[in-house]
Amino acid sequence: MVGKIKRLLIANRGEIVCRIVATCRAMRVETVTVYAQDDKDLPHASAGDMSILLMGNALSETYLNIEKLIEAAKSSGADAIHPGYGFLSENARFAEAVTKAGLVFIGPPAHIIALMGDKGESRRLCQSIGVPVVPGYDGDAQDTKLLAKAAAGIGYPVLVKAAAGGGGKGMRIVESADALPAALEAARAEAKNAFGDDRVLLEKYLVQPRHIEVQVFSDTHGNHVHLFERDCSIQRRYQKVVEESPAPQLPEALRESMIRAAIAITSHIGYVGAGTVEFILDANGEFYFLEMNTRLQVEHPVTEMVTGLDLVQLQLQVAEGKALPFTQKEVKRHGHAMEVRLYAEDPDREFLPAPGVLSAFSLPHLPHVRCENGYSSGSRISANYDPMIAKLAAWGQTREETIRRLLNALAQVWMEGTIHNRAFLMRVLESEDFRAGKVSTGFIASHRQALLENNYNEDEVAALAAAYLLCGNTAPSAASGSLAEHSAWTRVVTN
Ligand code: ADP
Ligand code: ADP
Ligand code: MG
Repeated sequence: MVGKIKRLLIANRGEIVCRIVATCRAMRVETVTVYAQDDKDLPHASAGDMSILLMGNALSETYLNIEKLIEAAKSSGADAIHPGYGFLSENARFAEAVTKAGLVFIGPPAHIIALMGDKGESRRLCQSIGVPVVPGYDGDAQDTKLLAKAAAGIGYPVLVKAAAGGGGKGMRIVESADALPAALEAARAEAKNAFGDDRVLLEKYLVQPRHIEVQVFSDTHGNHVHLFERDCSIQRRYQKVVEESPAPQLPEALRESMIRAAIAITSHIGYVGAGTVEFILDANGEFYFLEMNTRLQVEHPVTEMVTGLDLVQLQLQVAEGKALPFTQKEVKRHGHAMEVRLYAEDPDREFLPAPGVLSAFSLPHLPHVRCENGYSSGSRISANYDPMIAKLAAWGQTREETIRRLLNALAQVWMEGTIHNRAFLMRVLESEDFRAGKVSTGFIASHRQALLENNYNEDEVAALAAAYLLCGNTAPSAASGSLAEHSAWTRVVTN
């Protein structure tokens, strides 16, 4: 039995550090944050009770340096390490080193991270317990000829994936046999570079599927619960930009089957802590296991808003050896929540990161809206890191009310200095198909023209924000989809 965690080191950067510190303060757990020299002016560097500079310029010297992070924890008297998401959060070697150093790792044991972190191994495990996986090849043999044969058997298009992959890296769609060798080469190089492991697997490429995932939680007493599902179908570059719970237009029986499959996995492997089981749902209503993320997810606020739970608090309690403080039956979901990821990126240029200085930046304070942020006015969004600026999440009784609150909040973000995706996100939320719950991972591509049309420029957003401010938190009517209608509405209320 682990004792109470008194001081926690957070081995990460940006918004997730500030998020974890907030829960620790409420729990009276002291926090130690770490920062690289180029992050010294960011909020996370000084968010905790103590802060430690990680010397060096390369990621391998800072946020990815296992020895330095453990040394920082020891020298600051921390008794536990929270890895956040990304970076070392799904690195089994890190989890093991933390434990070996006599510290508590906030996450599952190393062997479970290793098992579920390998897309091939976790696929095989799912098959062995009857959880469906996408038709594909996940064998050890990796020579190109054999993969070509496997791809022909699966049928094109196929998706090449890095076995050790994450964050959409190392993935390539292959339309036909002649394109396979080049795609394999590119995926292997990217995987080697990002994960130090160039093994790949092949999957049938599903057209316009939905991404639906189940939030799971387990403790060390053998309790395995789910905290419902999230729909994360709105993606670009295989990465999520809008997430919500409940998943819209999902038949109840299907929801229950996916949740059952997720729990079958966690109970089979004896999972511990917070995790996410990701599924892909095809147009015929068949779902398949994609992967399991053995960490806190970027989009966890959505689940917190519909369940009223604090997932970071639960993570710490589970790590202290406590049993989950509720049973499955006691977890209830209320209303609807939705999150958008605000990025410094250019929707007009294939969502290419657009690093730069955020010369002015402020987020709104609104009822039922939560903003998670790791920057302030004058902060630099560096090309060295993920270009996510902030997350905005809203809650409402209905999906429609939630969308209106989120649009209102987005309109009131004040941002200058970098190119960003705010207007793009607003167009997604305004789109008729999105409003109707017709979402798929092909949504952005198939609505490209409408979403990229420059009809929602920053001046207009500013005018909208002013209008929203004039009328408090009331957003335009649900039916109003276009800016023209917003403007008309503005005139009505200001006259
Ligand atoms: P989530 O899966 O939580 O919805 P993402 O897939 O966008 O979120 O990943 C969260 C962040 O972590 C991104 O910055 C992504 O680049 C990074 N990331 C995810 N998996 C890995 C990994 N295995 N190795 C390195 N970085 C990763
Ligand atoms: P990562 O570890 O990078 O998150 P995932 O396996 O979770 O990789 O896949 C990321 C995204 O790529 C999914 O959410 C989905 O949009 C898309 N994707 C993955 N596998 C397939 C597939 N077989 N067919 C179509 N799209 C897929
Ligand atoms: Mg994934």
